[in-house]
Amino acid sequence: QRITLTERETEVEEVGRALNFLADTLQQQKRLRKNLTADVAHELRTPLTTIQSHIEAFQDGVWEATPDKLQVCHDQVIRLVQLISDLEKLSAAENPMIQLRQESLILNHVIHDSVNSIAAQLEKQSLSLTVHEDAEVFMTGDYERLVQVFVNLLNNAYKYTKEGRIEVWITEEPSEIKVTITDTGLGISPEELPFIYERFYRGEKSRNRKTGGAGIGLAIVKAIVEAHGGKVAVQSILGKGSDFSVYFPK
Ligand code: ADP
Repeated sequence: QRITLTERETEVEEVGRALNFLADTLQQQKRLRKNLTADVAHELRTPLTTIQSHIEAFQDGVWEATPDKLQVCHDQVIRLVQLISDLEKLSAAENPMIQLRQESLILNHVIHDSVNSIAAQLEKQSLSLTVHEDAEVFMTGDYERLVQVFVNLLNNAYKYTKEGRIEVWITEEPSEIKVTITDTGLGISPEELPFIYERFYRGEKSRNRKTGGAGIGLAIVKAIVEAHGGKVAVQSILGKGSDFSVYFPK
C-alpha cells in the first residue's frame, strides 16, 4: 500500500514537472512570436518612412523629384521587396508542414549553381573564389532549397569580405557530408557568435554597413539544413575571417 502511494506521488510530481515544462515552452514561443512581429514591424517601418517623407516633400514642392531622390525611393522599395521575399523563404523553411522534395542530387552541382548566381557580384570586387572538390558527392534533398543555403552563405562571405579569398570545400566522410565556406573577411566576435542564426540579428559591424540585409539569411540556412537532418557550425576570428560549415548525414 505504502509503495503504491509513493509511486503515485512520483508520478504526480513527474506530471507536474512536464506541465511546468510545457507552460515554459509555450510562454517562450509566445515571446518569440511577439519579438518576430516587433522585428518585422521595425524592418518595414524604416524604408517606408523614407519613402513617405520623400513623397510628402515632392507633393509639398519642397523637393523636386530628381533622379537621385527617386533612386533613394527605388532602393527602399527594393529593400522591402527583398525583405518580404526573405520572410516568405524563412516561413516556408520553418514550416514543418511544407514537404521538402526528396531528390537524388549531386551536391557539387548545387554548389556550382550557387557560385554562378553570385559570380557577377564577385567580379566587381577583387575577391577570388575557389571550389575544392575531389569527387562527386551524391545525396538526397531539395535542390532549390539547398541552392538557397549556399547562396546565402556565399553572399555573406562576399558581403563581409573586402578583399582576399572565399574558398569552398566539399568533402565526404564515411558518416557525413561536409561543405565549408571560408572567407578572409571581417570575422565575428565571440560575443556575437551565439546570436548570428537568430532571425533579424545583425552584427554590430554589419548594422553600419549598407549591405541591405535584414538579418534573416542565416536563420533560413539553419532551418533548411536542419530540415534535411543536418547541422550548421561556425568558427570565426574577428578581423581574420570566418568558416561556415554545413553537415549532412549519410
Ligand atoms: P545579414 O547578412 O542580412 O545581416 P544574416 O542572418 O545572413 O543576416 O547574418 C547575421 C549576422 O551574422 C550578420 O549581420 C553578420 O554580423 C554575421 N555574419 C554572417 N556571415 C558572416 C561572414 N561571412 N563574415 C562576418 N560576419 C558574418
